[in-house]
Amino acid sequence: MNNAAVIIVIEDEAQIRRFLRTTLSSQGYQVIEAETGKQGLTEAATRKPDLIILDLGLPDMDGVEVVKSVRAWSSVPIIILSARSQENDKISALDAGADDYLVKPFGAGELLARIRVALRHASSATNGNNDGVFSIDQLKVDMAHRKVTVSGTEVHLTPIEYRLLTVLIKHAGRVLTHQMLLKEAWGPNYVERAHYLRIYMGNLRHKLEKDPARPRFLLTEVGVGYRLAVD
Ligand code: CA
Repeated sequence: MNNAAVIIVIEDEAQIRRFLRTTLSSQGYQVIEAETGKQGLTEAATRKPDLIILDLGLPDMDGVEVVKSVRAWSSVPIIILSARSQENDKISALDAGADDYLVKPFGAGELLARIRVALRHASSATNGNNDGVFSIDQLKVDMAHRKVTVSGTEVHLTPIEYRLLTVLIKHAGRVLTHQMLLKEAWGPNYVERAHYLRIYMGNLRHKLEKDPARPRFLLTEVGVGYRLAVD
């Protein structure tokens, strides 16, 4: 774990900022606080953060605009914080390039787990340290040989099922919106066809999960998309 990681917190509510500072500092992260979107963007440009935690409801600008602005020049992981009422903004922020989200109120354990996944992704993207084999529980996917096994038995996937699975694996642990999945697995002309996803995700669960009705790793993020569990 990267204990020296620098995290910028962009959040106008003092109470939540205090909670974040306490939680993150206790793990050795270096925390920089910003109360407005503008201030956050300045800090992001000057401090070279390893991660940004961004509240969507800011006093001076839309959080989605902050995501777009950062993404114009940086691929630093961004975890957004949203209130229940910001459901649509949350999806827009993810589609704009945010990596993950937490809905308020959230716990310290959940926050730290998401941060670890985001930082791990960022470092494996730079170092390319991927052996090409993904495994969790009984599922094993050997990307080099396009071989999928469940408890050692090879499972046949259709080309689209396999592509959908590899998109999830590429972003394992992170939430992917319906739009992102459709775009990556099918192509940019398919982003409205959410029913494709339901069908193919159902197929994958039937082929890969022990109990497809209660998936262990092909998880639904209600109203947002899907997430492949990593542990
Ligand atoms: Ca706020």
